[in-house]
Amino acid sequence: MPRYSINEPRFNQTLEELGHLGESPDGMDRVAYSPADIAGREYTVKLMREAGLETRIDTAGNIIGLRAGSDDSLSAIALGSHTDTVPKGGKYDGALGVMAAIEVVRTLQEQGHRTRHPVEVINFTNEEGTRFHRWLVGSRSMAGQLEQEDLDAVDDDGYGLGPCLADIGGNISRIGEAARNPGELAAYFELHIEQGPNLYQSGTPIGVVTGITGRAVFEVEIEGKANHAGTTPMSTRRDALVSASKLVLAIQKMAAEQEICRVSTVGSIKAIPNAVNVIPGNASIGLEFRDTDMEALAAAEQELRRITGQAAVNDGVDIEVNRHRFTSSVPIKPEMQALVAEAAVNCGLAWEPLPSGAGHDAQAVAAIAPVAMLFVPSVAGISHSPEEYSTPEDCANGAQVLLELLLLADDRL
Ligand SMILES: [Zn+2]
Repeated sequence: MPRYSINEPRFNQTLEELGHLGESPDGMDRVAYSPADIAGREYTVKLMREAGLETRIDTAGNIIGLRAGSDDSLSAIALGSHTDTVPKGGKYDGALGVMAAIEVVRTLQEQGHRTRHPVEVINFTNEEGTRFHRWLVGSRSMAGQLEQEDLDAVDDDGYGLGPCLADIGGNISRIGEAARNPGELAAYFELHIEQGPNLYQSGTPIGVVTGITGRAVFEVEIEGKANHAGTTPMSTRRDALVSASKLVLAIQKMAAEQEICRVSTVGSIKAIPNAVNVIPGNASIGLEFRDTDMEALAAAEQELRRITGQAAVNDGVDIEVNRHRFTSSVPIKPEMQALVAEAAVNCGLAWEPLPSGAGHDAQAVAAIAPVAMLFVPSVAGISHSPEEYSTPEDCANGAQVLLELLLLADDRL
């Protein structure tokens, strides 16, 4: 039995209310720094204050609510996620973790339970990275992992980050002050929707996250020869788009058949000049590999370089492979996974271990604190879509386990 029960109707109502901010027939639109995002942040602060949290906004724009513990010598245990969304997104991605964290503190407050550790609820800013194409901006600021590119980034209209940060109470010239030292947080726990089909398909209410996936992103440029589509014989063509198409299929097979890595995706393709009567002289594809095992990502890159080398020889084209980004996977410590599993069992809920195929704030925070993540089912595995849905019961289960997890960690850490 869990020690205390969260207030399920109240909790689901907060999710509903937050879900009305930025809602449209096309889905949720609380892109970071937009008026709807700011409304969502104000709603979060209001709820935090009602839950007795002392709130502040750090220079990166993260909202931090603090509840004092009984032992001043202990570091805080933090619970959190994000309330920004992608355009045309859903009501649960990120929102669930923040609303659940607040409900957990509200429950403790009502029960008069003072934890030994201070408790922080954190609403990280700009997790999704939509506007400036730089993601996990709040959590990476806190982890001291911000790069110059993050500060220099401009949006599609050429506007910079500084004024946006000022709008939400941050300060770009002092953003370094948002960084915290290892040890300042005793642990960080994040509840999130799975954003994949595993729990929904197996009917398991709780997922214990084993690690957050690593990701390698590449751009492959193919140079052939543009020529007349009517007069150039088939045998003498150097068609860059044909070579690109063969690569698309080969890259799909790398995960689907060869199982070199967990998933492989070609998500973008360009043909130049992209005219129906011209043999494409140039083509490029954008692709990514994901796996929690970094060796698998290295093997995928090796295979990519092998097949592109071969395609260049076979098709008489020039191919250049550019590695754009390489995000390391973040394993979650076995003892932290065990704590989540124990919390689920205490709540009478079945659980299963699974990796996270998406990125989360927890992966940045892992640089400065032990982290754990738990998932609840996404109906049909859909997310980043207006159809994103998790049942009120599943959401409440997640919040309940988060509360029990906090209490277990407060005893043990
Ligand atoms: Zn999220």
